Amino acid sequence: MPQINDVNSFIFDTAVIGAGPAGLSAAVRARFVKSRGAYPMSAIVFDSSVKTGGLANFSKTKLTGPSFSLERGELVSKLMKDIELFDIPILRSSVVEIKRNRGGSVFTIKDSHGVKYLTKSVIIATGMRPLSNEFEYFGRGVEITYMGYDFINKMIKKFINDAAVNDSKFMIYGNKYSINLINFVISAINGLKTDYKKLSPLFLIDADEQDIAKDKVYKKYPFLFSFGKITGFSGSGRLNRIIVESKGVVRSEKVDRVLLDYNSFELAPDFKIKISPAASITDRNGFIKTDAAGRTRAEGIFAAGDICGPYYSVSRAMAGGITAAFSAYEFVTARLKKIRNYSLFAYRATNFRPEINYREIAVELNTDKIAVISKAAGIKKLILAEFKKLPKRQLDKILCYFRQYGVLDIKDFEDISKILEISVLELTSLIELMIDEKLLSVYRN
Ligand SMILES: Cc1cc2nc3c(=O)[nH]c(=O)nc-3n(C[C@H](O)[C@H](O)[C@H](O)COP(=O)(O)OP(=O)(O)OC[C@H]3O[C@@H](n4cnc5c(N)ncnc54)[C@H](O)[C@@H]3O)c2cc1C
Repeated sequence: MPQINDVNSFIFDTAVIGAGPAGLSAAVRARFVKSRGAYPMSAIVFDSSVKTGGLANFSKTKLTGPSFSLERGELVSKLMKDIELFDIPILRSSVVEIKRNRGGSVFTIKDSHGVKYLTKSVIIATGMRPLSNEFEYFGRGVEITYMGYDFINKMIKKFINDAAVNDSKFMIYGNKYSINLINFVISAINGLKTDYKKLSPLFLIDADEQDIAKDKVYKKYPFLFSFGKITGFSGSGRLNRIIVESKGVVRSEKVDRVLLDYNSFELAPDFKIKISPAASITDRNGFIKTDAAGRTRAEGIFAAGDICGPYYSVSRAMAGGITAAFSAYEFVTARLKKIRNYSLFAYRATNFRPEINYREIAVELNTDKIAVISKAAGIKKLILAEFKKLPKRQLDKILCYFRQYGVLDIKDFEDISKILEISVLELTSLIELMIDEKLLSVYRN
């Protein structure tokens, strides 16, 4: 697998967006295919949060399910062991766009810094909300709604009281489905006989959801509302400020406590990744629609976990991630690389350890056209010499060692592309094509 600093020019077999239970399970399964003769896929994971594990790493919560109870972080640390074992890079990056390139077989993933990555398939496992750094402030100014309304009632009254007594700023952040909570809060405030205006603005509603303005509670208390999307939390020790983005304008607001209305994200997730060319893969509430195999309507794009809608549980997220990875495998091998598609299965001796040559490129060896070159044998020189000798039309006969193994770097690619008078991108696609056509093998000896 490539190192982090190589990833921008490597074409991954699959890119997983989100490092919660669904995404981590998908990435591990993509690499650990467990079927004799099958080849593992190369995988990369993106996560917008500072912490791996998504909601499964939430605060001090124990994860429970039928017959299991996992301490905080236990599940994620198990998944992370496999992520490390299979050498899967996780980038701390928020994905903003998935673009299908011309020709259709490669996607460009763009992150919020404008950096681009190439992949043959995509697994979306973004959960209900792209976590920024709220993890850092859970219990220290950031709270979420996740239990029954009885609990929320008490919690809200306490927060409002605290805000009034300490003259601190409290806000509730949600979307159009927060209207029930808003009405609930208003009645709680009425009970407390608090001056509404002092709390203003109390509700921060995602900027795209301005239709809340049509609601009668908004008409009655417009001063309690503000609009925007929280993209960051800050403060030393405790929460002190939030970064809010609205219609491209970023502002910083002083706030001491934020209640994130997770119940509203359970009804409409905060999914904002642009898919181009535009493909309708979500339902009207923003959940991604898939078939039972995790396939979306857009070929090569798969999804799993909470982003696919209820029910919300780690078991379902993991099962969905595994299923989506199997489907991505089928897509990449059978459809794109046109090699035999082994039926995969999900069990194997538990003491399995990948060897150094547990590499992902799915090609079958064709000894007529392929020779083995050892890394020690001055491979770079050899490849350059081979490229120099060959006329373009014979290119499909060359053997080269692919750059993700660290043998060639970007400079070599530039050199080779100059010799061949083609762009680096064309060269990369050419090599990929050769791999697909089984004219080129890449493995370490
Ligand atoms: C308080 C609480 C208690 C829970 N208790 C239980 C329990 O006891 N048992 C149980 O089974 N389930 C429980 N759950 C539910 C469970 O945690 C979720 O169902 C599960 O984590 C969903 O997994 P996921 O991978 O789909 O999404 P998530 O865990 O939400 O992970 C999604 C990840 O995607 C990342 N992401 C989002 N957008 C982007 C982007 N654009 N670019 C890059 N990264 C992105 C996010 O940062 C996040 O890390 C609980 C949830 C909460 C909040």
